[in-house]
Amino acid sequence: MEGDVLVIGGGPAGMETASRISDFNRNVILIEKERELGGHILKWDRLFPDGVPASDVNNNLKESLGTTKVLLGNYLISIEKREDYHFIAQLNSGEIIKCSTVVFATGFKLFPAQKKQEYGYGLYERVITNADLETRFKKGDGLGKESPKRIGFVHCVGSRDEKICNKQCSKLCCITAIKQAIELKQLYPDTEIYCFYMDLRMYGRGYEDLYLEAQLKYGIRFIRGRVSEISQDQSGLVIVKAEDTLSSRPLKITLDWVILMAGIISERENDFLTQQLSLQLGEDGFINSVDPIQKTNQTNISGVFVTGSATGPKTLPEVINEARSTALSVNEYLNRVKNG
Ligand code: SF4
Repeated sequence: MEGDVLVIGGGPAGMETASRISDFNRNVILIEKERELGGHILKWDRLFPDGVPASDVNNNLKESLGTTKVLLGNYLISIEKREDYHFIAQLNSGEIIKCSTVVFATGFKLFPAQKKQEYGYGLYERVITNADLETRFKKGDGLGKESPKRIGFVHCVGSRDEKICNKQCSKLCCITAIKQAIELKQLYPDTEIYCFYMDLRMYGRGYEDLYLEAQLKYGIRFIRGRVSEISQDQSGLVIVKAEDTLSSRPLKITLDWVILMAGIISERENDFLTQQLSLQLGEDGFINSVDPIQKTNQTNISGVFVTGSATGPKTLPEVINEARSTALSVNEYLNRVKNG
């Protein structure tokens, strides 16, 4: 199979990049390892800041794919660059693809919360992650029919944590915690909700307003302090120990549920591909841009582009905008190569 462009990854970044490159009448092949397009938003119920259904965004992205050839359930097992400005990629299905450019839209993964053993994820039934909560929202289950008495959100799980070798902020989890806390408060108005945070990072437009609304309208309480330990009592309730770093007092609180805000880490599954192409990765495992200010979607290898969260945590609007700029860069590159 031949194409001008091979896009690796069928999440928002990959779909938007493929759509926009197709608009230039280029022949685009998009591969996605899962059997469905969407990546992480496929598992998400509603999106911050204004609660748009994630499925609406996903459907819009899918409908825009135009002439893109989509191969689901396919992933690369090898790739090499030939001297004639072409790449040869082999897929798990046995398919061989010859293309002029490659776009890594390989995204990110959520930190596996069980690695923070002191938080008891996987051991205690009522300790769940942000992603688990979205799955429950999607199914319409929430946290059960009965109103919980108290719920706690633990920020920075797997982020800003030297012990697990990830110093970086994941950027999206403070606002996600606030969105989810408000959704729970709407479901269970009498429930007390606490957010345990180190710093609150409200990056985007309207995010600060949502934080204020969470406090003033919904009465969500924010406690500055890192949680040191989570355990379970005999009745299945969850005990959280933390230090309130504003009052310098230790704190112990019994909760019905704990939501761990699992952070964003690099998708290491593709390391063998980046090695085959000699792409540069940062210490954090994300792909390096050749120039982090003016050429954010270009890599150290000519003809290989990168887009979306494959270079680090990004919001969905940032991902979509970057995908459009990647499409322009790819088209310019193809014009240059094909016109000699
Ligand atoms: S966005 Fe908030 S919760 Fe996420 S890593 Fe940064 S400070 Fe922690």
